[in-house]
Amino acid sequence: MKISENAEDYLACIYDLSHKGVPVKTSEISGRLKLSPASVTEMTQRLASEGYLNYERYKGVTLTPAGNRVAERIKRRHRLLERFLVDVLGRTSEESHQEAMRLEHNFSDESVEMLSRIMNNPTVCPDGDPIPAPQVPMGDEVPSFPIIELEEGEEGMISHLICDEPAKIRRLISMGFVPGRKVVVEEHIPMGGPLLVRLDEMRVAIGRDYASLIQVEK
Ligand SMILES: [Zn+2]
Repeated sequence: MKISENAEDYLACIYDLSHKGVPVKTSEISGRLKLSPASVTEMTQRLASEGYLNYERYKGVTLTPAGNRVAERIKRRHRLLERFLVDVLGRTSEESHQEAMRLEHNFSDESVEMLSRIMNNPTVCPDGDPIPAPQVPMGDEVPSFPIIELEEGEEGMISHLICDEPAKIRRLISMGFVPGRKVVVEEHIPMGGPLLVRLDEMRVAIGRDYASLIQVEK
């Protein structure tokens, strides 16, 4: 069942407000989401009937396992998007939060996982909050290795970047080293020289220090 953006925001809000399974008061939710108590009550009843929430009168609201899954998925997207906007695009943390609020509902799971790989699967957002683990395994793990291990003439697909430094990630992306792309090694320049590779129709020379950060699979 496709869940609405409002419902996603609502479940994510409860996720943020609930600490150690303590029920969240509906007044806290209406304060945080700036909704009228009546609309919070309506949403609470609907999501409880759909199995996302448990609601006890006078005590408050807790997430069911299904509700928790929706909330964690949204939190993962939100925090990864923030990391991407701050680290790769250089936005401020405040700008990234506002923009991630809008993007989080409309990014495909697949693109979110690609973003995560570009950044070497970060575990915290720019504010230091934990990024929940992915829920959908992205297919069988294919072994990956540094691009430098490809022989001349061999082709691979970029699987991820092993790099936690935003400046280096930006540099690699601007050169075209993006997960999912095909790459052919044309020449290993001897004496510690660069690697000449072809990315689609583009030829790129890349130093060994940078090349060692690029993981490929065959
Ligand atoms: Zn945020």
